[in-house]
Amino acid sequence: MAGESRNRTVDVKRDVYHGNILHSFSYTFKLPNLDMRAPWTFREEFRTRCESGPSSWSCEMVFHKVEDNGKVSFPVTLKRTDSGSNAVKVLVDPQIYDDFGRNLTDSWVVKGEGIRGGDVLEKTLEGDFSNTAEGFCFILQLRVQIFIFVMYCHSTSTV
Ligand SMILES: [Zn+2]
Repeated sequence: MAGESRNRTVDVKRDVYHGNILHSFSYTFKLPNLDMRAPWTFREEFRTRCESGPSSWSCEMVFHKVEDNGKVSFPVTLKRTDSGSNAVKVLVDPQIYDDFGRNLTDSWVVKGEGIRGGDVLEKTLEGDFSNTAEGFCFILQLRVQIFIFVMYCHSTSTV
């Protein structure tokens, strides 16, 4: 467990950025699609270490193989795991690209405002990844970038 994505064959590159108005976390990895034998669970735990309103989180997203018809649904669960009473705003923005670099998930976001310790956000993201005029889907590999932003914990800026 240890808070990291379970399947060790997937190499997840992690980036953290602490800015003036937000904390951002990004996870970049490639997933085989055509050869996917079983759903793969992205699972990460992270914390902001914010000086004014720290928060800790866990994020889970289950990747299913994209079938020939291109229809997909990926359930996402984001949980604030600390017990802080300060409210923050959070945004999860998964971007998935196919073999040709086409962004398949332009409008996929999970967001919440006024999130306090113990709160959970759940959403199933659904899409159609078919990449031909006939609606047929052939994807060897998915390139995934998941961005998570935690906002309004340490700034009174209205930006
Ligand atoms: Zn902060």
